Order: sequence, then structure tokens, then C-alpha cells
Amino acid sequence: NLKYDSKALWRMDRDHYVHPWTDFSTFKETGSDVIAEGDGIYVFDADGKRYIDGIGGLWCVNIGYGREEMAQALAEQARRICYYSTFTHLTTPPAAELAAKLAQLAPGPLNHVFYTTGGSESNDAIARFIAFYFNRLGKKSKKKIIARTDGYHGSTLLTATITGVAFDKIGFDTIEDLVHHIPCPNPYRRPEGMTVEEFGDQCIADLENKILELGPENVAMFFAEPIMGAGGVIVPPPGYHKRAKEVCAKYEVKYISDEVVTGFGRLGHFFASKDNFDLQPDVITTAKGITSGYQPLGAILLSDEIYDVISVPQEKGAMLTNGFTYSGHPIACAAGLKNIEIMEREDICGHVREVGPYFKKRLESLYDLPIVGDVRGSHFMLCVEFVADRKTKALLPPEAAIGNRISRLAQERGAIIRPIGHLNVMSPPLTMTKAQVDDLVEIIRQSATLAM
Ligand code: PLP
Repeated sequence: NLKYDSKALWRMDRDHYVHPWTDFSTFKETGSDVIAEGDGIYVFDADGKRYIDGIGGLWCVNIGYGREEMAQALAEQARRICYYSTFTHLTTPPAAELAAKLAQLAPGPLNHVFYTTGGSESNDAIARFIAFYFNRLGKKSKKKIIARTDGYHGSTLLTATITGVAFDKIGFDTIEDLVHHIPCPNPYRRPEGMTVEEFGDQCIADLENKILELGPENVAMFFAEPIMGAGGVIVPPPGYHKRAKEVCAKYEVKYISDEVVTGFGRLGHFFASKDNFDLQPDVITTAKGITSGYQPLGAILLSDEIYDVISVPQEKGAMLTNGFTYSGHPIACAAGLKNIEIMEREDICGHVREVGPYFKKRLESLYDLPIVGDVRGSHFMLCVEFVADRKTKALLPPEAAIGNRISRLAQERGAIIRPIGHLNVMSPPLTMTKAQVDDLVEIIRQSATLAM
């Protein structure tokens, strides 16, 4: 009973909407699929066709679609106060309550929250904060940022520079000499003959050597996702994050854990840093699952130590001149509060801890298809890497467009999965049941078999 003029929508969109991340070699022909409604783990296009949402919108719709409680919480907040500035000495009830809740959920001394409207803005803002922090400490040369090849941190000029996915920068400029990349800690692609343990040692040495090469007095921050998302769902070797933090601490480099994807249950805990990886970062940046996509919101969680430096009153005029009109937007914060309330009430993290290993095991059943090279990831953040030869790990030629073809075939069969080069990535709503996992994996099996 859906009532959309799908053809008119398709045309308006194609002719007027400049889409993010779009391949214009095909866009003007194909246009966009119009996703009009959602319910649980399913979305519906404007013609009413149902799909399993294997990507959770974009790694973000953690509690699933169509939650009436969420709609009511947003409407209620809009009635009370739709917006008010939180600059200087102003706040709103949801902004205050959510900050306290996030401080309670965050690991260790991350007790201070700065709001943004998304992940890029969180990462962009923290770079400015940390430079400000070191300026206040009189360490004015500490400015450089270290990040990893294939890390993804956003799409602003600075965060696209911090991003280490080469493909994402083609044709664009970056900020020279501010950001330096070390190799991706991808165990699947480690040098031949090296054990995962030796590879882990090498990755840590890469970080320490880079700090020494740049001069510790010049290095301010290290950015890392607990599990790299857009760069190919890369789980680093065991102990990597904890050891990387020790290296950072040795040289007074702030460890920024980018939990834009891994936060809010995707790996079975509200935050993955400490609970999944035994890492106590100096900062967590997050977004996406904080509201499950019901509103745009991002947050930076700062340690007491950083907060104490940046909040010390200094000479006249030296205030923290950083903020966005929509920092702490009350409707977005109300969405965050209700989202967390639902997650806690339904023990969504517990569900992910139970169903996540099953999901991975079911995906591993695809190893009987010869083009499946690697199934990796954790809990509700998984991917399949397709290869021409499993033994040599040689890739299929780019013109095979294997990721795209499989995802197109899957979509025809009623599931949306995300192609990234020769990978297909899965990050569904966290409410997915085992039976729904079976449905999704069966569609991927059929699609991959047809694509071979
Ligand atoms: N950091 C990570 C790890 C991400 O995956 C993303 C987006 O996918 C971002 C940052 C950027 O977030 P946003 O797209 O909300 O700006």
C-alpha cells in the first residue's frame, strides 16, 4: 500500500541531487534506487519491494527501522524546544542528559562530551582540539597526525587527508605534510612467510618508527578505528591497539579511537576500544549508531586530562573558540537518549554478542565457493573478500567488478549489501535474528555462485 511516484522521484533525484560518493560514469544512466520506508531490518523501495538491509543504512541504523518510540521522542522534543544554542553558558535538557549518559558508558576517564553532527565533523574537530591542547601546554610544534593506510575518517578536507584509502582521494587535494600514514595492519595481506604475531610486531614498529622519523616533538595524534570499516573490515593482529597506545603514551601522542562505526553495539558493547580490544584511548570519536540514524549526531569523548588542559581559564580571549550551530541539537540528543534507552532495555549488545559469532560462522560456510578468499570481521561488522586464486590471494581483474556484481545480484534477490572493490561488506541492524542471518547468507551464496 505504498504510494510513491517512483518514476518521478527517480527523475527529480537524477536531475538535481548531487549524490555523495557517486560514480558519474553510470549515475546519469542508472539514477538511484529510491528507498522509501523501513521496518525492523527491512527497507522498502518506492515500488514496495522489500530488502534485507545488510548495511544498516550506512553502518548506522543499529536498533532497526520504524521504531514508533523514536518517532515519538523526536516529535515530543520538537514540541518542547526544537533548537537552542549551546554556545557558552546555554544548554538544553537532552544535551545535558546525553552528555552524562555517554560519560557513564565510555571507558575510563572519558567523561567530557563535545557534540558534532557526524563522524567527519567529530574527527575534524578533535584535530583542532588536540592542537589547541598542545598549544596550551606550550608544545606548539606538536601538530602532526599519524593515521593508517586504508583507514577511513571522513570527507572534509582534513579528515579526507587523514583517511588512508588511496581511491578516496583521486582528483582531490589533501593537506600536505600534516598527516602521515603507516601501513595497514591487515593480517590477510601480510608478507608471505610471516606469522600474524611477527606481523603484529612489525605494525607496532611501523608506528614507533614513524613517530621517531617525524620527531616526537612534532607528533600530536594517532587516528585508528578499532576495526577498519570502509577500508575493508580489517581486524588488526591481537594486541595491536593496546601496544599502539603504549607507543603513543611513550611519546605523548594522543590516541584517537575512531568509533564512528564500532560504537553503540556493533561489536557487542557500547564502545569497542576497551571491551573488545583492551584499549583505553585518550579520545573516542563517534557518530552513526549514537542515534541509530534517526537524527544526525556525532560526539567526541575527551579524557579528564585533556579536558582539564583545554578548560583551564587563560588570559583574556583564549577561550575554546570551536563549535557548530547544531552542536548538541536537542532533537538529535533526544534521539541519542531514546536510542540508548532502547539498546539497554532490549539488551541489544547481548544480542549482538550472541548472534555475531553465528553470523560469522554462517558467512564462513561460503568458503566452499572458490572465489571466497577471506571472511573476516567481528560480530555485526563483517566482510567477504573475493579472489581469483585462494592460494596466491590474487585479485580478480577490476573489470570483473566482482563486489558490484554480487551486490547487484543480491539486490535483485532482496538484500542490500555493500560493494567495496572486490569486497562485500555487511553491517546490518543489530536486531537481526539468526533466521534472518540465514536468509541474508543464502542470498549472498546464490549471488556469489551466479557471479563466478
Ligand atoms: N569514521 C569512520 C570510521 C567512518 O566509517 C565514517 C563514515 O563512514 C566516518 C568517520 C565519517 O562519518 P560521517 O560520514 O558521519 O561524516
